[in-house]
Amino acid sequence: MPGKTTIFTARKIITMAPEQPTANAVAVKDGRILSIGQKAEVIANIERSPFMPYAVDPIFENNILMPGIVDAHTHLEIQALIYSGHFVAQIPWPKPEGGFHPVFPNKADVLQRLRQLDNALPPEEPLYAVAYDENKAGGFLHIDELDQVSKTRPIIVSNLVFHRFWANTALLKKAGITKGNLLPGIMVDDNGKPNGTLIEATGLMAVLPALPDLVNITEDKINTIMPLFVRGGYTTACDAALGAFGFRNSFDRFAHLLANPEAGLRVVGLPWAKSGVLEAGSLDAFIEMVKEKTAEAKDPFYIGPVKLYTDGSIISRTSPVGWPGYWDGTAEGHMENDPAEIRKLLIRCHTAGFSTITHANSRPGCQVILDAVKAAQTVKCRPDMRHRIDHAYNITEAQLRQAQALGVAVQFFTPQIYYYGDSHLEIQGMDRARHMTPTGTAKRLGVSWGFHNDPPGTPQLPWLGAWATVHRMTMDTGTILGPEHCVKVEDALKAMTIEAAYQLHLDHMVGSIEFGKKADFCVLEADPLEIDPMDLKDMPVWGTVFAGNPHPAR
Ligand SMILES: [Zn+2]
Repeated sequence: MPGKTTIFTARKIITMAPEQPTANAVAVKDGRILSIGQKAEVIANIERSPFMPYAVDPIFENNILMPGIVDAHTHLEIQALIYSGHFVAQIPWPKPEGGFHPVFPNKADVLQRLRQLDNALPPEEPLYAVAYDENKAGGFLHIDELDQVSKTRPIIVSNLVFHRFWANTALLKKAGITKGNLLPGIMVDDNGKPNGTLIEATGLMAVLPALPDLVNITEDKINTIMPLFVRGGYTTACDAALGAFGFRNSFDRFAHLLANPEAGLRVVGLPWAKSGVLEAGSLDAFIEMVKEKTAEAKDPFYIGPVKLYTDGSIISRTSPVGWPGYWDGTAEGHMENDPAEIRKLLIRCHTAGFSTITHANSRPGCQVILDAVKAAQTVKCRPDMRHRIDHAYNITEAQLRQAQALGVAVQFFTPQIYYYGDSHLEIQGMDRARHMTPTGTAKRLGVSWGFHNDPPGTPQLPWLGAWATVHRMTMDTGTILGPEHCVKVEDALKAMTIEAAYQLHLDHMVGSIEFGKKADFCVLEADPLEIDPMDLKDMPVWGTVFAGNPHPAR
């Protein structure tokens, strides 16, 4: 309530502020933290102030409060699209309303599910299935298999990380793709005939004209997935490809959606350079568009660093992995975007004063960014830019030292160790797999690091992400991938709060429970620092407090 002072008491408050690590009362006014400490001292402090009257709210008397979780890399828009499809996943995906979607352990189960859906859906509706894991389910889908599901209804299936897709003949035909009219990203068999596989965004783009509703992002679709954030304990989330389907439209949609206090989420949109440059007409026009919208954005919606993209996905075997290639004999992948182009984009953003966040999984991909940041700093010295490398599976110690020297932060995709670590062992071999997302090295070197779930890469489950970061245990065989990289629960909590805020240049405002910051809290039913660390992934979350207002998970 504006103007009024509320004092929330709690069993324990984990502040993530090292000089005052715990407390049991926090006073809130105007959506901000007015005082933090022990109950008696906070009350005495308020009573000596002009910020009376106050009310003590004991709603969290038995709960643990910590700073609202800051998600450094997620996708609200793309996740909204995924959730508008039908899950044919091999891992449990959370439902926004609670519970999980069923899993389909192998390809036969998936094809049977697709046939069921084909029978159930209205005839004119395309069948859109999501989160198929070719590694766990036992292989790629093929156009002939999808044609057996339906010869008339367009079918598209996305893989687990949205980097590989499969289409049936009806869809390719509707999109005008034939043996004689192939587009980039459309894979073919030995006879030059499309085999149904579409690679990366380029391949998806080729069939989108035939699936207009698939990428029709609406506020309703985004609202459908919003409960996932409250349920996890997030109060800030970073949409890591804002405007992939239109920057100005995305901007207006988020500005409108988040203005509703019920939304209960701060969103930092990372302008997606690739589509943004096309939309604006040129790189310079893109920079101007981002500048204008950065100035126009207002709390709780922000425009963050510009999002760039180097390589593809290792788990989808589309990324280059460098010497000596894939361990299972898969042909070397290719950079999704030309390194020279990425370098140019990064330098231009840097000189214009925008920091960048770049998708880079492989050693070659990470090196493109490190070299580009070095070049950018040579062109124009700009301190404290916090450029960032995201995912960083195979980043080496030598590269992390360069990152450290250049002030480049790193976001690790550690949940992949749990979900797909066994596949990484086969695809990449032991040496690369055990040092994948090297949190231990980053911590030892003092590089700013965090972790993220990156749905659709893995589900929007922050506590599973924390657990995977702490334990590095794979899902199928229980292998500990690189025990030397395991970190403490405290490190994971830091990564998902204050460090993520720092990386987004928001640590003055969120990420810890300190005087003056936003009153954004994650409300827990158990103490992450006291429970058995193996239970971390099942952390019971009450909900959140956003700008001082409680938002229970429903
Ligand atoms: Zn992403």
